[in-house]
Amino acid sequence: MPNLASISDDPPAPDATGAAPRISFVSLGCPKALVDSERILTRLRAEGYALSRSHAGADAVIVNTCGFLDSAKAESLKAIGDALKENGKVIVTGCMGAEPGPILDAFPQISAITGPQDYESVMAAVHKAAPRGENPFIDLLPPQGVKLTPRHYAYLKISEGCHNRCTFCIIPKLRGDLVSRPAAEVLREAEKLVKAGVKELLVVSQDTSAYGQDLRYQSSRFQNREVRARFFDLARELGEMDAWVRLHYVYPYPHVDEVIALMAEGKVLPYLDIPFQHAAPNVLRAMKRPGNVEKTLDRILDWRKTCPDLAIRSTFIVGFPGETEADFQILLDWLEEAKLDRVGAFKYEPVAGASANDLGLPPVPPEIQQNRWRRFMEKQQKISYARQKAKVGKRLAILLDKVFPGGGEGRTKADAPEIDGKVFVSSRRPLRAGEFVTVKIDRAEAYDLHATAI
Ligand code: SF4
Repeated sequence: MPNLASISDDPPAPDATGAAPRISFVSLGCPKALVDSERILTRLRAEGYALSRSHAGADAVIVNTCGFLDSAKAESLKAIGDALKENGKVIVTGCMGAEPGPILDAFPQISAITGPQDYESVMAAVHKAAPRGENPFIDLLPPQGVKLTPRHYAYLKISEGCHNRCTFCIIPKLRGDLVSRPAAEVLREAEKLVKAGVKELLVVSQDTSAYGQDLRYQSSRFQNREVRARFFDLARELGEMDAWVRLHYVYPYPHVDEVIALMAEGKVLPYLDIPFQHAAPNVLRAMKRPGNVEKTLDRILDWRKTCPDLAIRSTFIVGFPGETEADFQILLDWLEEAKLDRVGAFKYEPVAGASANDLGLPPVPPEIQQNRWRRFMEKQQKISYARQKAKVGKRLAILLDKVFPGGGEGRTKADAPEIDGKVFVSSRRPLRAGEFVTVKIDRAEAYDLHATAI
């Protein structure tokens, strides 16, 4: 049953000139939401809709919202308000659409609201708001679909939803339980992307290492072989494609060790994005984190023995309810030993609907949260800088994201787009975006590197 709250019943007539109706699109939120946006845009283009750069020049606007934190909700509401000011027909989708009450309270004139991944309902709302006439140009769609990322990298979503119940998180409420895509479907999409010129595949989901559990790891036929819907099997198959493969949102389940071996062999990038969130056992228990989180330091040391180039990115929450100074100190000590490459930290926010609010644990006052966040970031900045400095003088492969006169900007295997550092490259020869270049690292900052093309 589509979750569609339709308010307008009076569709306008199709454009008498036969021109394709134009849709403008706002995409907010995480890479998973970006993939949803790409799917909707692909459907729009497949059905002959044109895309508009401005709300004012469009026949309707779609806003794909993020509802993860209160700050993200505020940003989503602002985007909806801005769209309504410029265009009367606004369709809202995404995580915030799962609970439409606050949106309808603020903007009762919205044309339709759907929850995340509800592509059918979004398209039904578009058909109503901006009917499409007969369009002979239906197969102008590129085979890889419409991408919002630059041509040389793409997000590859392998599952929807999550079967964990971390107490600070409302994603399972918004997006439901884990639903994995069959391995063959994921691999066919990856193959199309690589054929279309994508040089880096960024594997995303809510819990990448849980991939296939809901399918009982059932195999599906890709090319002339059966591939199991299993984290390791999928990573190995992706590793055979002619592209960098980067794994995001991995939890430290025991079977992750097998994938580290693939990294050591150079099949997938030596990069793990693991949201550890904390290190103190009390806090981790209260957070109900998945995976074997108690022995992560030993695991990290073992992984680095197998794959010395491994770069680890993580996120942490400081000031979770009940976190004591002793718990926080455990986290700082852990950080010192783990020597992670990239780290983001957030102060705990009591998101409405999160079960952490009902644990009966004392909240950490905002000034203590701020103080812990500052101490945490200062410590990590020193660690990141030391790890970056160790790269000076090395020759590294980078993938160029942008070029400008005299050089360009790219990333090493240790840097994911948008969230990690950049490498600023100077070059005597002209460079091309999307090209792999070997560079010599000249200088390091805490997050970025400066280099010369060889
Ligand atoms: S693993 Fe935890 S934090 Fe991540 S989406 Fe699932 S419930 Fe939320």
